[in-house]
Parts: sequence; structure tokens; C-alpha cells
Amino acid sequence: MKAKLIIITIDGVRSDALVAARTPVLDEIKSQASYSMNGQTIYPCATLPAHTSLFYGIKAEQHGVLTNESYPTIRNFTTLFDEAWLADYKTGAYVSWFQLTNTYGDREKLNYVHFNRFYKRREGRLIGDFYDPYESYMRGLCGFLRQHDIDLLHFYMEAPDVWGHFNGWMSKEYLHAIEVSDRLLGRTIDEIRAIPTFAETTFLITTDHGGLDKEHVEDTPESRTIWFMAMGTGIKQNYALKEFSILDLAPTCARRLALPINPQWQGTVLDIFTQ
Ligand SMILES: [Zn+2]
Repeated sequence: MKAKLIIITIDGVRSDALVAARTPVLDEIKSQASYSMNGQTIYPCATLPAHTSLFYGIKAEQHGVLTNESYPTIRNFTTLFDEAWLADYKTGAYVSWFQLTNTYGDREKLNYVHFNRFYKRREGRLIGDFYDPYESYMRGLCGFLRQHDIDLLHFYMEAPDVWGHFNGWMSKEYLHAIEVSDRLLGRTIDEIRAIPTFAETTFLITTDHGGLDKEHVEDTPESRTIWFMAMGTGIKQNYALKEFSILDLAPTCARRLALPINPQWQGTVLDIFTQ
């Protein structure tokens, strides 16, 4: 059976927020994972530039995505998703922000996409409910995976960033968004593992940036410091890496899937594998 990898990004979660919020699911995952709480995202530390760096494996100066409205300017470049597709893996994305589908590389090589903008806002204010549709969005993932036998998936969880922008990073509403996300993540992972073809899935869970006050545009430790956890067969358990860069995730995921490592990628394979 092919290796399966699910990359989960929980948007805008500061490392110290995982201490301040009650996150029993992520605490338990961490005890079974290789992890770092003291990594660095790229600058500009915004959602689209950082996700592009995660999947392209290069800094923003090279991929050209400097804002949340940009498109990659680099051409003829092989990303993590491109490598997976070339190796006959099925690739997929389950996202609530369609712009993210530009961050994987050549969209022709993305086999399956589920997109659902589950909430509405106008002029920085929420219109209608947030958490019920967020839960429905999360619940839909397993149906998507049962329908499509995806090998490499990006799954995006947006809530903490939304509430950080509304009420401020580390506000009680922001920490609540992390706590709800933690609970829903636990249920989602349990349900995924109950699908026979996904029982041996590797999970890599991370964030794209932190935040300070109601933003994450400044180059501050609060916005630049990020974390990751990787859990699965053949990955060291309860193993702390002192540091990592978001640029290390593409080569590390490639290693997990036994894919070629593009020499143009700027990170290194993290020391998380048992052999
Ligand atoms: Zn973000």
C-alpha cells in the first residue's frame, strides 16, 4: 500500500497559544510525534506567502507571492505536490479559501479539490454563524476521503486566524477558536484512521504564522515563530527538534513519501525518521 500523508495547517496559531489554550488533542498528538514549538515561518508572514513556501519549499523572494492576492511568478518549478503527482500519487486539497489552490504548484496536477467558504464577513465583521458551519466543513472531510483515495492531502483549518483578526491574538475569542479547532481535529483524525485505506496515514500538523494584536504583518517573534508535529509509523515519538523552518516541510514530506527532493528547495529533511 502507498504511503499516505495529510498536511494540516491550522491558520495563525502561535506556539505560546498552545500553552495558553486547553488543547488536549494536540497535547496527546505531541506526545506521539516529532515536533518543534520554536520554528520560523517566512517573511512576509501572511497566509498565502507562507503556504506557498510550505509547498514550493522556497522563500517568498523566489516564488514571488508577497501578499494574499499574489500568484506565484516562478515558472517550470517542481513543488511537493508536483513531485507526488509525477510519482502517481493522488493529490488533494480540502480548503475554505480558494486562493490556497495556487500554492501547490501546477493546478493541473491537483487531482481533487473540495472548497467551501463556510462563513461570511463584511468590512471585518462576521455575518451569521461561524462554528456550526465550521464543524460541518470539518465533518465533510471523511466523506471526501472515502470518495477519493487521496495519497497527499492538504487540509486547511481557518478559525484561529479569523478570530485573531476580529478580536486580537491571544484574546479569549482567539483561544476559544483554537480550543474548538483542537476538539474537531481530534474527532477528524479518529474518523480518518477508521477508514481502512487511511489507517496508516502520516499526519503533519503545523501553522503558517502567529500574530500580534489583530495582525501578523510585522516581522516580530509573535508572528514569525511557528510549530509543527509529525505523527505516524516510522516517525520518532515524543521527540523535540530545537528548531525548524517552514522551508523544511516540503523536503521532509517528500522523504516520507519516498519522492525526489528538488535541489532547488531551500530547506532540509528534518531528523524525525526512525530509520
Ligand atoms: Zn494565515
